[in-house]
Amino acid sequence: MIFDKVLEIYQKYYICVHCLGRMFSLLGTNTTNYERGNSLLLSITMENHRNFFKGDDSLQKEAINNLNLLAENAIYYPAQKVLTNEGLDFVKNDSNQVCYLCHNIFNDIQKYVKKAEQILEGFEFNTFLIGSSPESQIINREDKFKSEFNLLEAESFKSHFNRVLGKVLMKSIKKLPEFNIPDVLIIYSLSFETFNIELVLKSLFIFGRYNKLIRGIPQTHWFCRKCMGKGCELCDNTGKQYLISVEDLISPEFLKESKAKDSKFHGAGREDIDVRMLGSGRPFIIELRNPKIRNLDLEKIERDINKSNRKKIRVQNLRYSSKKEVIRLKTNAKDTKKVYKAIVKSKDKISKKSFKQKFLKLKNKFENQEIFQRTPNRVSHRRADKIRKKIIYEITGKFIKTDIFEFRIITQGGTYIKELISGDEGRTSPSFSEIFETPLVCKELDVLEISL
Ligand SMILES: [Zn+2]
Ligand SMILES: [Zn+2]
Repeated sequence: MIFDKVLEIYQKYYICVHCLGRMFSLLGTNTTNYERGNSLLLSITMENHRNFFKGDDSLQKEAINNLNLLAENAIYYPAQKVLTNEGLDFVKNDSNQVCYLCHNIFNDIQKYVKKAEQILEGFEFNTFLIGSSPESQIINREDKFKSEFNLLEAESFKSHFNRVLGKVLMKSIKKLPEFNIPDVLIIYSLSFETFNIELVLKSLFIFGRYNKLIRGIPQTHWFCRKCMGKGCELCDNTGKQYLISVEDLISPEFLKESKAKDSKFHGAGREDIDVRMLGSGRPFIIELRNPKIRNLDLEKIERDINKSNRKKIRVQNLRYSSKKEVIRLKTNAKDTKKVYKAIVKSKDKISKKSFKQKFLKLKNKFENQEIFQRTPNRVSHRRADKIRKKIIYEITGKFIKTDIFEFRIITQGGTYIKELISGDEGRTSPSFSEIFETPLVCKELDVLEISL
């Protein structure tokens, strides 16, 4: 019998109406725990009020006992009123009694709402979700309580708190709750005495294409090899292997405008440090973590980045993106076609006529053919040694001097161009050097186009 259970609880503890309702949360739907708790207390009061009138002596005595319990231990006003009206005495306990289970957290929910409103001031978002982590004392006490009274239909403290707070906050800040991926996750750390709020903001993703107009800078931030970013003599206390990177030049403007805590740069593949990225640029997505502002003026950001980095890098086609697109960007990078321009130096001098003959042979050998590349010597310390099969689509060649030639090469993404030219001591075969029957070295390389 539920009524007996409630009376049994109040013989030992004072708990508030919210917590009482929570203990029977799985029973009766479409109502609140507060309503549940109140209905229980009222029904028990009514039942005992009736027994008081209609019962025999022993029933009447039991009714008075029960009403007393509700009046004194549950501090339930209607029970107190019944006793007063019947001219019966009871001890009037302090109405600010502390709930054994929640320390009156649920009676003071506005305090929690107000703090969230303050903290959220100045943040741009449309959807939110409440999360909470009550300290172990709260959880343990409640677990013991439930097993002491064998309460099997209770809801957890957490989900009760999250729901109640979400409902009130939704009305006060006029934003929608979102249970899947909210713009803002508002996490309460709760103890009986105090609480803290931490915000977790959904990352913002911006797609764009970048050009790298100079040689000698990497795509992303590289930490100093020796100190790993702490700063040492080798890196002049900068913590960096290279002073600037494409990422370093692009991200500050985004961080400033979005007021994000930090960012991550995702490129669709990368070019070597000494390779320029020309043409319509390489696709990238910048991930802004914990952004305070979500509605960005992307045209302004594009203008500002390009203005302050003139002749170094350029960005274009900025638009909003998603985490899904980051994954697509990474997996599709292998399937792109790339157009390169290579300036090549030959060890032996070759006449223009001989160049033409050799180039014809090169075209026949490579165009629309597969080549096999073992992991190049220069990256073998950080990449697994394996053999990659790549397709060369098209090559054009230009004689510049007897030992300098220019090639335009269209290949499958991920082809090692420098090694395709040099042969990398036989690790790439066939190679341009093989066909020209003299060592060739790529002196300058540019990516002219990437098609996704
Ligand atoms: Zn309570
Ligand atoms: Zn260092």
